[in-house]
Amino acid sequence: MAPFAKGFAVRIAHEKCPNAVECRVCLDVCQCGVLTAYPLKGDPFNKDTLWRVNPTLLSLCTGCRACERGCPHGAVTVVE
Ligand code: SF4
Ligand code: SF4
Repeated sequence: MAPFAKGFAVRIAHEKCPNAVECRVCLDVCQCGVLTAYPLKGDPFNKDTLWRVNPTLLSLCTGCRACERGCPHGAVTVVE
């Protein structure tokens, strides 16, 4: 058996995500370290900077959908 399930895609509807570092739900519930946040533009140390979520390490995704279930804005979709 392979160590990681493969073939999942995690789509983020960025227009629905207000600011990734203020919410953080999907980042916190992912046990596999798939998701990361990045500053869209501006100084990452400025509190007004907009951050987005990126499915950076998709090869680690098990397809558990915790991120999809947890997102309070319906911005995450996991597809096989
Ligand atoms: S489906 Fe599960 S493993 Fe994949 S990104 Fe979402 S929380 Fe992480
Ligand atoms: S859970 Fe949803 S709203 Fe919160 S940071 Fe992730 S994508 Fe954005």
